[in-house]
Amino acid sequence: MLVVCTHCKSTNRVPDERLAQDPVCGRCSQPLLGGEPVTLTDADFDAVVGKTELPIVVDFWAPWCGPCRMMAPQFERAAQQLKGRALLAKVNSDDNPRTAARYAIRSIPTLVMLERGNEVKRMSGALQTPQIVGWVAQDR
Ligand SMILES: [Zn+2]
Repeated sequence: MLVVCTHCKSTNRVPDERLAQDPVCGRCSQPLLGGEPVTLTDADFDAVVGKTELPIVVDFWAPWCGPCRMMAPQFERAAQQLKGRALLAKVNSDDNPRTAARYAIRSIPTLVMLERGNEVKRMSGALQTPQIVGWVAQDR
């Protein structure tokens, strides 16, 4: 399985059975799948999302959005629980208008699930950790 390092953007090949065993980047030695949400921007979104074969769940949010801030710790716990199964990412829709426009984000928070760059599904509104985990794991 290919996973793009969110620190140095190099592509790493990780055997499926090692996904849950804290793989590190071959180039920069940072954790590839640390169980924490990663921050993506207009500048690196395509590089990470396009090549990573693990499902990616993007949380579109903004600092002024109360429900988004409420959901942040829930999203962090979900990232921990989904470690090795999905990469959870956050995109600040104010700072990254190109990515937000491409996915036609009209309300936040909105979660968009991507597989190899293609949208699989989305859901809007603030969610609790079990709802996020259940939604990601559903149909898989
Ligand atoms: Zn790296």
